Amino acid sequence: MDFHYKALPWNIIFGVGALNRLPDELVKLGYSRALVLATPNQKETGQEIVKLLDDKAVGLFGRAMMHVPVETLNLALAEAKRLDADCSVSIGGGSTTGLSKALAFHLDLPNIVLPTSYAGSEMTNVWAVTQNNRKVTRRDNVVVPTLTIYDPELTLTLPPAFAAASGMNAMAQAIANAAAEDANPVSSVMALEGIRALAHSLPVIISDPVNMDARVEAMYGACLAAAALGTGATGLHHRLCHTFGGTFNTPHAETHTILLPHSVAYNADARPEATRRIAGAMGVSDAATGLFDLAGSLGAPTALKDIGVKQEDLDEAATVALETPINNPEPVTRERIRTLLDNAWHGHPPRPV
Ligand code: NAD
Repeated sequence: MDFHYKALPWNIIFGVGALNRLPDELVKLGYSRALVLATPNQKETGQEIVKLLDDKAVGLFGRAMMHVPVETLNLALAEAKRLDADCSVSIGGGSTTGLSKALAFHLDLPNIVLPTSYAGSEMTNVWAVTQNNRKVTRRDNVVVPTLTIYDPELTLTLPPAFAAASGMNAMAQAIANAAAEDANPVSSVMALEGIRALAHSLPVIISDPVNMDARVEAMYGACLAAAALGTGATGLHHRLCHTFGGTFNTPHAETHTILLPHSVAYNADARPEATRRIAGAMGVSDAATGLFDLAGSLGAPTALKDIGVKQEDLDEAATVALETPINNPEPVTRERIRTLLDNAWHGHPPRPV
């Protein structure tokens, strides 16, 4: 065995009710002028955080948006400067965390993150901004949250359909790393445990949304899956998802859910052992089919045509995805990508192409 593992500077508190520790933790970190970030959907939750922080909050920016449009970033930058914020406290899914990361990069603003979905952005050093229909992602450790507080109670308000898709998004973070070209053994352990926890808990959440054990297990799985992504690789799957998100503004978690079985089938021959281990962690005989069936059983979308992608968009998607080289176990060609996209558009079961 021969590997190099370098962890990111994670600082995590996990537990039911952990949100209540936020004010004390802020004081311990030495911050007293927090700008709270939320999406318009979760503005009320943002206001509750402002209340919880009391005199340690200077304001609420409630306009975080998916894929961090540069216009949103510029508004948030101006607000953070106007209010002389000394940190951000973001409450929400990957969109809000993403905004906190972009602020950290541009202003060196420490970021405290309260995740409410399973996107996992808080565990990675990847940050992105979308401009001129292109989502550009970069890695920088300065964007890794100063503190992440995982409180599974915050996921109780997730609408079931989004909980399913978001959980499959977490699954994708883990799978990308369990089956990567240069998979790291430490990341792989986290990835496989994340896959197991998610495959076990997501069906329970859909059938029994207030089951707290399942909420805890799913958030734990999402944390591990994203930790694997945080130090590991991305390949064809993430490239395709970012292409659809950046160019066609498709919803992130749902795009992952639909494309994941197809990406796994695409790489299965190149990474047979890893693909078998993924199936083993899920408790199924075939990883790609198991993922397709899991998404279907959770009521998550399984066809690109159902999330607003037009068939005539597929050619452009293949072109954009191939604009820069992709590090992927199985060689990537335009023809094969185009076939994969066609299958995913129709919602066909996954198959090697
Ligand atoms: P999101 O953050 O846009 O959330 C979708 C909607 O659900 C939003 O309106 C949000 O306010 C709402 N929501 C979230 N949690 C909720 C809850 N508990 N209760 C009620 N409503 C809730 O979507 P997402 O899938 O979490 O994140 C997607 C974004 O994150 C994308 O832009 C993606 O690129 C990015 N992302 C980045 C990384 C990374 O490592 N940089 C990793 C994963 C995702």
